[in-house]
Amino acid sequence: MKVTEKSLKFRCTELNLGVLKDTSFGIRFERTAKGYMVELQYRDGTPSKVLIQEASASEAAAAVEGVALGAVAVKDAGTGKPEYVTRETYVRQGGERCPKCQSKDISPGHLIASKGIIIQHCSCVRCDLVWNSIFRLDDYDCSSATKDE
Ligand SMILES: [Zn+2]
Repeated sequence: MKVTEKSLKFRCTELNLGVLKDTSFGIRFERTAKGYMVELQYRDGTPSKVLIQEASASEAAAAVEGVALGAVAVKDAGTGKPEYVTRETYVRQGGERCPKCQSKDISPGHLIASKGIIIQHCSCVRCDLVWNSIFRLDDYDCSSATKDE
């Protein structure tokens, strides 16, 4: 099958909406005066990575298929980076990073405490995601407490 700009475009769209949908990146190509350029575009703001440039259409297609195969392999291995981090990751990071784009530029809102649980409304300055951080009552400690007079 002959690779054309149209078929490349179709394939990239198909992959971005398919196998690459749950990964941290998408694929993009561009036709320049010197040939085709294929790059990975990260959803978290990491600068895009050029895979091949000044390539022929069939070389570009091969690069695109390489990404598709790699993404499938990663997915099958269960290590694909989903769009949102897991609860474990969020907790391990101390709730200091946006669960979507991993930015530390988040603005924590006020705390609502109720029956051993505190909910904090947070939002990400970078990607505009809003979420609630959930804190659970863990312990009590008299030794370091001082009485409010
Ligand atoms: Zn974010």
